[in-house]
Amino acid sequence: MGMPKDRITHFETSVQSQDPREGNRQQIFEAIRQAGRIARIDIAKIAQVSPATVTAVATELLTAGLIEEVEPDGDTEQVRRGRPRVSLKIRGDAHLIAGMKIADRHITAILVDFEGTTLADHTLPIVSAPLPAAEITALVRQTLTALCAKAGRALEELAGVGLGMAGLVDATRNFVYWSPSLDQRNVEIGAALEADMPFPFFLDNDANLVAKAEQLFGKGRDASDFIVITIEQGVGMGIVIDNRIYRGGRGCGAEFGHTKVQLDGAMCRCGQRGCLEAYVGDYALLREAAVHGHKGDLAALYARAKDGDKLAKSIFDRAGRMFAMGLVNVINFFDPGLVILSGEQMALDFLYEKEVLEKVQASVVQVDAPLPEIQVHKWGDLMWAKGAAAYAIEAVSTQTIRKMARNAA
Ligand SMILES: [Zn+2]
Repeated sequence: MGMPKDRITHFETSVQSQDPREGNRQQIFEAIRQAGRIARIDIAKIAQVSPATVTAVATELLTAGLIEEVEPDGDTEQVRRGRPRVSLKIRGDAHLIAGMKIADRHITAILVDFEGTTLADHTLPIVSAPLPAAEITALVRQTLTALCAKAGRALEELAGVGLGMAGLVDATRNFVYWSPSLDQRNVEIGAALEADMPFPFFLDNDANLVAKAEQLFGKGRDASDFIVITIEQGVGMGIVIDNRIYRGGRGCGAEFGHTKVQLDGAMCRCGQRGCLEAYVGDYALLREAAVHGHKGDLAALYARAKDGDKLAKSIFDRAGRMFAMGLVNVINFFDPGLVILSGEQMALDFLYEKEVLEKVQASVVQVDAPLPEIQVHKWGDLMWAKGAAAYAIEAVSTQTIRKMARNAA
């Protein structure tokens, strides 16, 4: 179908409506999105609805401007036989969407059209974290304004923004229980952002958005069940079960970094003791090194370890063993077919080392079956933002179609 490689094409089907017509709209819309371009008769086959339903729903979606008709490619067999079939596709211009991720040291953002085609990206450095919600809001606005300007668009044209943050985030109500980016607990950050800017925000834990990105265009594309471990300043996890992200009862499940690995252990940024992150997060390594007089950043500490410095080596070695133990526990819990260790070109590379992975393989429950596959996926820092954009496209689609249902009722 000749789709650009950087286009976001596969989506979690999020049909949970009581209204069967809305269900049909969502389903048919998703079928079009996943196919790229598709004829009405083929949608009926894929979505398992009647051709009459497809025709009726397609007319609604066309009227709403969410999809458009396209002529078939000139060289298809149908054209040669002289009975070309018109295809349907998502209308890229329908909505302008942004995805962004707030990290400790920068905000990254991408601008995409409604088909998921990247239009621009932008990175804004953050001088200090944690920050008050009002300052985060101002930085988000600044990032989005610059992002839109790069594509010659205005901030007000955005239809929705997906936003990833580290920490304990309730995605269902855009609420942050705790994040290393915020200087307060229990922040209605979604409400603060929406009070400042005229479009909806869709917030999620950053690791969940990476899981979404892996599912849509990464190593999880062919897997219905997998676990993603993200390694950045801290350690995160996303769980995909039956093609859906598992979020837990309060929206803050899968907190791998805050699983306990030591009774009365080291202090974690979250306020509790003995968390995995308090042993493997970059701040934890630097804290340990500082006790022994090391000054400088993680790269300097890593260089020292590579040069054979005993203390530096022992710090990384312990972190590696702690990480391996945590990963073994995750595998023993879930027995996932696939574990993806996912991250940017990182300072925490040592956690991916062969020794660590061998330790994991040796410590998971041993049965006469192959060990779970562990894949390392390093990507550019736009992956987080891409996952956030995909999440926002999904959410804006659902909202728009829901609105259509209300207007029709
Ligand atoms: Zn913690």
